[in-house]
Amino acid sequence: MKPETMAIHVGYDGDPTTKAVAVPIYQTIAFQFDSADHGAALFNLEVEGNIYTRIGNPTNTILEKRVAALEGGVDALSVSSGMASIHYSIINIAEVGTNIVSLPQLYGATYTLLASVLPRQGIQGRFAASDSPEDVEKLIDENTRAVFCESVGNPAGNVADIEGLARVAHKHGVPLIVDNTVATPILLRPIEYGADVVLHSMTKFMGGHGTTLGGMIVDGGHFPWIKYPDRYYMLTKPEPSYHGVVYTEHYGAAAFVARCRTVCQRNTGSTLAPLNGFLLLQGVETLALRMERHVENARKVAEFLRAHPRVEWVNYAGFPDSPLYPMAHRYLGDRFCSLLTFGVKGGFEAGRKCFDAFRLFQRMVNMGDAKSLTCHPASTTHRQLSPEEQAKVGVTPEMIRLSVGIEHIDDILADLDQALNKAIV
Ligand SMILES: *Cc1c(COP(=O)(O)O)cnc(C)c1O
Repeated sequence: MKPETMAIHVGYDGDPTTKAVAVPIYQTIAFQFDSADHGAALFNLEVEGNIYTRIGNPTNTILEKRVAALEGGVDALSVSSGMASIHYSIINIAEVGTNIVSLPQLYGATYTLLASVLPRQGIQGRFAASDSPEDVEKLIDENTRAVFCESVGNPAGNVADIEGLARVAHKHGVPLIVDNTVATPILLRPIEYGADVVLHSMTKFMGGHGTTLGGMIVDGGHFPWIKYPDRYYMLTKPEPSYHGVVYTEHYGAAAFVARCRTVCQRNTGSTLAPLNGFLLLQGVETLALRMERHVENARKVAEFLRAHPRVEWVNYAGFPDSPLYPMAHRYLGDRFCSLLTFGVKGGFEAGRKCFDAFRLFQRMVNMGDAKSLTCHPASTTHRQLSPEEQAKVGVTPEMIRLSVGIEHIDDILADLDQALNKAIV
C-alpha cells in the first residue's frame, strides 16, 4: 500500500462483533481473562492480548500499527506526548554513566531534557559543534548509547544528514534515534536512510488539528543489539523485572519498542489516553492531503515574503540559494516543510508591530495545525535570553516564525500583506 492508503486502512478492517466502520474508542482500563490459565499465558507473553490500558489499548494499537507502517518500521508504541517518546527512547537503553550524542539545534524541551534533566540522573547529553557527522563522531565514546537528531529541526528548519549520522553511529555500534515530527513520514522516512528508532510528537502535523497531545516511538527493527550484548544487556539478557524475558529473543526485530512498553511505560505510565488515540487516528487519515497543502502554501508564502518590500530576509529551505537547501533537497526532494522564519525591516519594534497586526495567523507557540500560526520569539519564547544568547540560538529581534496552515492561499497572503504594511516604525 502507498502511504495515503496505509494512513486510512492499516490495522483495522472493521470490528468483528459490532461491524463498526470507524475505529472504536476502547474506553476501558482492564480486559477480562477467560481463566487463570489465560491470564497467566498473557502475563507470560505466550499469547497476545490486552491486560491493562497502561500497557496497551486496542484503539492505540491501531494507531501504532498505522504509524509503524507509514514509517516503514516493525512496530510502534504510542505515548502521552512527544516528550515522553523522547524520554522513553533514551531511558530504554541508557543509564547512569552513559551518554547520548546529539545535534546541537533541538526543540527547546528536548534540549533541556538532554542538557539538564537527564544529567542529574547520570545520563549526559553531548552536543556536537555542528550538524556534520564528523563533529558528531568526535563525541562518541565507549559509554555512548545513541546518537540523536531531529530530521528537520524545530525551529531552525535545518535538515539532518541522516545517512551520514547513521554511518558514524553504526560504525561505533550505537543506534541513531530521529525525531521526525516536523517532516512526518509523508515528506521523509528516516528508516530508509539508516535510522534505527523514529519518534514523533503526534501533537503537531500527525494529529494536525491542534487538539491532542501524543507521541510515538517507531522501531526500525534493523539495529543488531545482540552484536553488543553487554552494552545493550537490557535487551539481550534476561529482564529481572519481567520474569526473565530476553527481548531480543522473544520479540526479535521489535525488541526495542517491546521493552519501551513493558518496562518504561508499564512502570512509569506516560500512556496515551484511548480517546486521544482515536482523535489522532482522525488526523492521520488526512495527513498526506494536509501535508500537500501545507507544502504548497509554504512555498507561496516564502515567495510572497521574499518579494515584499517590508521584508528584510526569509529563511526557507526551498530556496536554492538557502544554506539549508542542499541537505533539504537531498532528503525532502522538492517538498519543503511549512515551518519558516522571516525578518521584518525595522528591527524588534517592526517585528512586534507586524506580529500584533496578524488577523488570520494566530499568535501562539505550536506548529503543524491546520490553522496558520505565528510566533515572535524575541518577545515570547526567547524573551529571557540576552540579545547575544538569542543570536547564538538563531533568534533575531525582528524574526517572525510561521507555521503555514491549510487555509486558502489568498487569505493567508492577504493577512501577511496587511500585517507587514502596519509594521512601519
Ligand atoms: C513539539 C515537539 C516536541 C514535543 O512534543 P509534545 O507532544 O509537545 O510533547 C518534540 N520534538 C519536536 C520537534 C517538536 O516540535
